[in-house]
Amino acid sequence: MSHVFPRHSRKELPVVSRGEGPFLYDTSGKAYFDGSGGAAVSCLGHSDPAVLTAIKAQVDAVAFAHTGFFTSEPAERLADKLIENAPGNLDRVYLVSGGSEATESALKLARQYVFEKGETKRRHVIARRQSYHGNTLGALATGGNLWRREPFSPLLMETHHISPCYAYRGQKPDETSFDYGQRVAQELEDKILELGPQDVLAFVVEPVVGATSGAVPPVEGYFKRVREICDKYGVLLILDEVMCGMGRTGSLFAYEKEGISPDICAVAKGLGAGYQPIGAMLCTSEIYDVIKQGSGFFQHGHTYNGHPTAAAAALAVAKRLIDDGVAASVAPMGAKLVDELKTVFGHHPNIGDVRGRGLFLGLEIVKNRETKEPFETELAIPARLKSAAFEAGLICYPMGGTIDGKLGAHVLLAPPFIMETSHIDLIVGTLEKALSKVLP
Ligand code: PMP
Repeated sequence: MSHVFPRHSRKELPVVSRGEGPFLYDTSGKAYFDGSGGAAVSCLGHSDPAVLTAIKAQVDAVAFAHTGFFTSEPAERLADKLIENAPGNLDRVYLVSGGSEATESALKLARQYVFEKGETKRRHVIARRQSYHGNTLGALATGGNLWRREPFSPLLMETHHISPCYAYRGQKPDETSFDYGQRVAQELEDKILELGPQDVLAFVVEPVVGATSGAVPPVEGYFKRVREICDKYGVLLILDEVMCGMGRTGSLFAYEKEGISPDICAVAKGLGAGYQPIGAMLCTSEIYDVIKQGSGFFQHGHTYNGHPTAAAAALAVAKRLIDDGVAASVAPMGAKLVDELKTVFGHHPNIGDVRGRGLFLGLEIVKNRETKEPFETELAIPARLKSAAFEAGLICYPMGGTIDGKLGAHVLLAPPFIMETSHIDLIVGTLEKALSKVLP
């Protein structure tokens, strides 16, 4: 019997034994193509020699030193690399151990910043209904995913949720996508006015939505309007790029394509590419300087902030992505994969939408393509699809957000950037077979 507390206590899991390129192998020797990088983590696949060498060198030199006493060369160089490559005003990097820590840190930094500026009434956090920002209490309260929140609702701080920018479900037939984006962005201004502009702290948003909706990109103009509204009322814009960042959508930061820059940005997953647990929060020098000149320290912290080994791994990952050009293959490979997905599923009666950016792609599964009605929640399409694909040797990430009280269903694909054209048939073919097994 396993003594590890598993994610699902009624399921026996295979034991992973090794990883090579885009494949994972279990102890029976069975191969699995990692078509979702777990949950959009393993952007370099599983055995990148440069990253392994960097980790070994760092462990040999010094595995860990507490940031209360030391900074470290890999942490400094990683921060430099991120800032050099982050368009806009981001200027400081706070290193943590994962995505939830990054979004949680962002919320606390935002609050401490306004507190030290004397805008002490600013406390309301606005986010969107279809969103996931992590599982720690602040991050969970910020996310809009109802079933994740439900058991913990008495423990969650009050947050406010507006509509996502989800054109497949929200755009009206007589509306352009631009107008749709402006309409849903207007909900932000309306909510700020309703809560009282002096009392609103931040708007937290994923530029391309991952887990709750399946790779939903914004429509053009949405983020420009959001930025304008935040600026008008002094509300901080916090972008959660934990899943969609680090090259996943074809640019290092997903917000690059929106022509805006956030006040705070959270990244994780692809930052360490799974080689080490690491996340980061980037912020503007304006925020940093207020705290530096005020109390002088961010009243936050975790034992593993700036962990040297994790930072060395992430620095090696960043060099592979940026200097070796691995991230540059994302847009062309993503275009090929989406083409094949559209060929195979574009007219499928139960696939309502094929979407995404770069190698961050989603298929939305519906009962009725015309009405977009989801399947009954009891059919548990996402969970069964995950098992069927896994059995057939494909790791993908089916999930469901809440749509009109029912559990929606989508599959998220986030394969490693090192995948080859020859893997496209494997991904699409296996997914097609798995879907046909689970659809009624
Ligand atoms: N934000 C987003 C957008 C995510 O997708 C996730 C993880 N799925 C998180 C935050 C939380 O990250 P972690 O699981 O590393 O805590």
